Amino acid sequence: MTSKKENQLILAVDDTPNILKAIQYILTKAGYPVITARDGDEAFILIRKERPALVISDIMMPGLDGYELCSRLRSKEATSLIPFIFLSAKDTVDDRIKGIQTGADAYLTKPFHRDELLALVETVLTRHRIYIEQTMKDGLTALPNRAYLFKTLDNEMARARRYRRDLSVVMLDIDHFKSVNDTYGHLFGDKVLINLAGTLSKEVRRQDILGRYGGEEFLIILPETTGDAAAALMERCRRKIADIPYDDGSGSSPVSVTISAGIAEFNTDDHSIEDLIGRADRALYRAKENGRDQVVVG
Ligand code: GH3
Ligand code: MG
Ligand code: MG
Repeated sequence: MTSKKENQLILAVDDTPNILKAIQYILTKAGYPVITARDGDEAFILIRKERPALVISDIMMPGLDGYELCSRLRSKEATSLIPFIFLSAKDTVDDRIKGIQTGADAYLTKPFHRDELLALVETVLTRHRIYIEQTMKDGLTALPNRAYLFKTLDNEMARARRYRRDLSVVMLDIDHFKSVNDTYGHLFGDKVLINLAGTLSKEVRRQDILGRYGGEEFLIILPETTGDAAAALMERCRRKIADIPYDDGSGSSPVSVTISAGIAEFNTDDHSIEDLIGRADRALYRAKENGRDQVVVG
């Protein structure tokens, strides 16, 4: 799961241009991509569009103020967990209490020290990542679960759109898995799922996100990857997986399983994760229709 600074977009919000510039300079120098907004309303629109990993916001601003921005984010499911730091000249205990009660993760007062801001940013981002990793993990394979995949794909699509980068997704499904379970038992089936997760983990790159979509279906998010490159990767995986011998414990010859995969390459007509996943899913359906044990690019 991603922890690289260059993937953690930070939104800084302040109505004083010089302060905004200073925050942007400090964070950019530390390696974070930064976007800025000059009031709460502009920030709210940007957050919905860009899905930043963290918001650092002033409190006193024209229009939507910092408190209102924070509580509005907290009240909506899609944005309720976004890490949020107040950076304000309001420095009474009551101000700080209100800030924390509104749902901020931290409260820093102006004038601030660069190192304190950076320490807070790093800690808040790390705690959030650990929380997400622990709550969004599949119990059987220890891979990211469906909720994590949805959240990450949403972010990656925003990134691909913003920077015009390649992005592909793979929907992968074990062939005739019901009959594997029926023939060799569910525990054997579980062993196949765990093994498959391990095999795929070794094949994908560090920046790729492999997760268990559900049952015997896996989703792979491939940033910076065209559909053709994704197809080459999946073809390699498909062969490797078909070659794994599983011992069913009966003494008879080893069992093997095959997979089918559907690939979709992101394009700007994909407005939601459902659009992109839907195309991968339809490609997977075609792979099944064509006889399974194959990769289809949609
Ligand atoms: P197809 O080639 O069309 O994909 O056929 P299939 O049999 O793989 O597909 P189907 O959707 O009919 O069956 C999926 C099976 O996967 C049924 C279900 O019991 C099994 N399954 C789902 N989750 C688990 C799991 O966690 N452990 C085990 N052992 N089996 C699982
Ligand atoms: Mg299935
Ligand atoms: Mg299946």
